[in-house]
Amino acid sequence: MLIVQKYGGTSVGNIDRMKNVAARCLATQRQGHQVALVVSAMSGETNRLLELTRQLQEDPNDREVDVIISTGEQVSVGLIALAIRAAGGKARSFLGHQCKIVTDSSFSRARIVSIESAPIKEALDAGEIAVIAGFQGVDEKGSITTLGRGGSDTTGVAIAAALAADVCEIYTDVDGVYTTDPNMVPTARKIDRISYEEMLELASLGAKVLQIRSVELGMKYGVKIHVRSSFSDVEGTWVVPEDAAMEKVVVSGVTVAKDEAKITCEDLPDISGVAGRLFAPLADGGISVDMIVQNQAYDGTTDLTFTVPKGDRKRTVEILKDKVPELVGKDGERVSYDDEICKVSVVGVGMRSHAGVAKTMFQLLAAENINIQLISTSEIKISCVIARKYAELAVRALHEGFGLSLPPSERVGL
Ligand code: ASP
Ligand code: MG
Repeated sequence: MLIVQKYGGTSVGNIDRMKNVAARCLATQRQGHQVALVVSAMSGETNRLLELTRQLQEDPNDREVDVIISTGEQVSVGLIALAIRAAGGKARSFLGHQCKIVTDSSFSRARIVSIESAPIKEALDAGEIAVIAGFQGVDEKGSITTLGRGGSDTTGVAIAAALAADVCEIYTDVDGVYTTDPNMVPTARKIDRISYEEMLELASLGAKVLQIRSVELGMKYGVKIHVRSSFSDVEGTWVVPEDAAMEKVVVSGVTVAKDEAKITCEDLPDISGVAGRLFAPLADGGISVDMIVQNQAYDGTTDLTFTVPKGDRKRTVEILKDKVPELVGKDGERVSYDDEICKVSVVGVGMRSHAGVAKTMFQLLAAENINIQLISTSEIKISCVIARKYAELAVRALHEGFGLSLPPSERVGL
């Protein structure tokens, strides 16, 4: 088999851990497999480099910022290659431009356009372990680019796709993807298998194990992703195409996001074009709006409520206070906000074929006396905005209520 192993920052956090990585990949190779590694910067290093650049340059979307923050991975691949050699193996390191990970020129958030797999294959065929720098690429002009925070996951999956690898193992400091944050709910369980789509929802809802883009790539190219711990041998979580067994599990995971704020615009005229005009300056300002709820019009006016990243709340309100009087044709305080909210969500592909998930979710929250402020749904997700002080209580109630503390086979139907 051809196996890609991606090691995150904590897995290469010091020389001892790097020796552990060397031992692991050599053991895999001895079982008769070809092994390509993708490696992150040592933990804390990218933050340290970013902090240095911030003292001189606020905007990370800059060619020179990427020159600096990509160096953490260069150090890691060199050290890992040395560690493999010290353990008696053969290794060759590759930087982004050496295995031609070509990206667009969006510095600090570049997207991969193509990968030249030949140099990596040549190393593998020579019995070497290819050690590839995560997070970095090169644009058409030859400038170094980076793929956004957590981008080594994406390098890992992209390399696995380019090499048509049998599996992309993502080694991290947790042993898989959990039904919810185990720090919040001690009975949270490791999920054995999850579909790309569910993982995508969980990642967009704030589960930090995988960069969203890596899951998108995995889904597009059918790369089997195995999220597991570099500190143990236990099986982790497989992120794979959806199958019939997954449909039976109604809810796979519960998440909470605490980094959004709620904005309400009241008494907007109920005429065509208002929402478009309201959101245009927000889009121009690069503010990404998440949940949007508009009420049924009453008396010729309507209310619009939505959420934005908390860091953008101040700017959003300023922009809107500018725009709303113009829209409604009169002055007055018509924009309000609430920073003390959170968004709890339940995710599961089984929702497509099971009725009553929303009802159960609302009843579980009601049983704890939690008021729901906003609701939004997708085919495989239901999200509710509630007061932030109830975040933990809500997650625990939903996790228990949907039976997630039990193995999937023992959960009762709705
Ligand atoms: N070193 C980069 C970061 O910290 C990329 C990664 O670790 O995935 O975001
Ligand atoms: Mg990571």
